Amino acid sequence: MSLPADYHMHTPLCRHASGEPVEYAKRAVDIGLTEIGFSDHSPMRQDNFDNWRMNFSQLDEYVGKVRNAQKDFPQLTIRLALEVDYFPNGEDWIRELAARHPWDYFIGSVHYVSDSWAIDDPQKLSEWKTRDSFEVWSIYFERLTKAAESKLFEIIGHTDLPKKFGHKPNQDRSPLYEAFLDAAKKSGCAIELNTTGLRKDCKEIYPSREILQIAFQKSVPICFGSDAHAPEEVGMNFPEAISLARKVGYKEFCQFEKRKRTFTKF
Ligand SMILES: [Zn+2]
Ligand SMILES: [Zn+2]
Repeated sequence: MSLPADYHMHTPLCRHASGEPVEYAKRAVDIGLTEIGFSDHSPMRQDNFDNWRMNFSQLDEYVGKVRNAQKDFPQLTIRLALEVDYFPNGEDWIRELAARHPWDYFIGSVHYVSDSWAIDDPQKLSEWKTRDSFEVWSIYFERLTKAAESKLFEIIGHTDLPKKFGHKPNQDRSPLYEAFLDAAKKSGCAIELNTTGLRKDCKEIYPSREILQIAFQKSVPICFGSDAHAPEEVGMNFPEAISLARKVGYKEFCQFEKRKRTFTKF
């Protein structure tokens, strides 16, 4: 039995996080974690795509910061990863990124439901008012399903992100979940229990218990992430996430080294 690895954390290179990787690592050791992974927002082909990610020219600097943390904390396993934005027809760019460094895993995330709207961006919150929320959820899950099918990712990030600000349409969303989780199972990717939702308006872990239950029935593996944007957020709310996973029936989480998966009991 061990505390699950925290596989989702950022660095100041994404321009909306604070604290250096060595500080995140120190925090991890202080709270008893034995493994973490850095998964900062991946660069886009165009650096001016948005203002919440590193430039492409900073990718080596990012890897260097993670390597420094690995050197300073030999007692902690520190994985090298990225949180990569998935866009339909954007697969070539993700393959180019994958070839640049010996990554341990890629988290595939959908934030954008069009080329200009990231649904979780607080600065674009008013966009929700102009949209039908079920349509947004549907487009989001279509993209998430494609991300799972692409085989470019070991993990799919914050599965039900559209709930972040509390937008929950009345329509039955279970067909969206089923299609996505079938794709995840078929292509062998895991989903994360991402605790940052507990700190947002929705006040819930991503994904909801309903989604996690379907994932368990389909034997989709899980891992855990705090989505820390500051050192004190490392491992935050992990007891709640572990308890949710256990209630649903999960007994193992997955780990990745050089994109190969293993399982550990928790
Ligand atoms: Zn994200
Ligand atoms: Zn993140």
